Amino acid sequence: MTDQYAVIGNPISHSKSPLIHSTFAQASGQDLAYSVIEGPLQGFAEAVSRFRDVGGKGMNITAPFKLQAFQLADVLTERATLAGAVNAFKFEGGRIHADNFDGIGLVNDIQRNLGAPMRGKRVLLLGAGGAARGALLPFLEQQPAELVLANRTPEKAERLVADVGRRSGLRGGGYADIGEGHFDIVVNATSASLKGELPAVSSAVFSAQGLAYELVYGKGLTPFLRLARNAGVKRLADGVGMLVEQAAEAFVWWRGVRPDTRSVITSLTVPLV
Ligand code: NDP
Repeated sequence: MTDQYAVIGNPISHSKSPLIHSTFAQASGQDLAYSVIEGPLQGFAEAVSRFRDVGGKGMNITAPFKLQAFQLADVLTERATLAGAVNAFKFEGGRIHADNFDGIGLVNDIQRNLGAPMRGKRVLLLGAGGAARGALLPFLEQQPAELVLANRTPEKAERLVADVGRRSGLRGGGYADIGEGHFDIVVNATSASLKGELPAVSSAVFSAQGLAYELVYGKGLTPFLRLARNAGVKRLADGVGMLVEQAAEAFVWWRGVRPDTRSVITSLTVPLV
């Protein structure tokens, strides 16, 4: 029988997840169907229950339900616990197993696809919302020389760093606390670009040989990427690779098969102009 999976969000019509997962399934010969559920804003848990009752095997969870998904989970990974947010469920043994693959998807895109290793490098992460929270542990696991977390509301970055505990090279604060020097990798994990805004970061943080990465995808050259390009950065990327790589991690978790991501990323990429 065909196994059932779905993505739940609201709104959800824009989601690329059905296309990504059907492509993975077809290419790897997996018998599964992947549908879209527009979750009622006041009825997330009931919508998940309904999908489980009809035999659903797993789900992706997107905005605005990632925090509610965290609350609903029975079994959580460490990175999902630190993120306080969940983007994938697996229904197994009568329990809801939950993980957050956003951070590892981002790491895989940066390191494997874009060829920018983090080990021993200076990394600057802008933002302290769900996406930055999810990225923190996977980033630290790569052992950067320094990981600086900067957020518009400094207390949120400070709290996040405190939550993860003392780690060498890790600090958090406001944009004014970033300090001197260039960073090898600068990641914009704020939602500023969705409103055409620019986080208050100085162009001095960029290194011409480094990477500037924007989590928002499909919007071409955002104000952040434009700032980086004007500072001489040649390697610019948006979050389309992260989107596909987090989907691939969920696919492996559900099916035990690693799908090829390259062609899917290429087909979804919008030129950065
Ligand atoms: P949240 O709403 O949880 O957090 C938003 C963050 O952006 C906060 O740190 C907030 O700062 C900051 N922010 C918002 N506006 C500005 C601004 N004008 N200047 C500076 N900082 C600002 O969002 P998420 O963390 O969930 O998502 C962040 C972005 O990442 C979104 O745009 C989302 O689309 C994208 N994303 C992409 C994914 C992908 O697969 N490519 C996956 C997940 C997310 P403050 O705390 O001060 O309010």
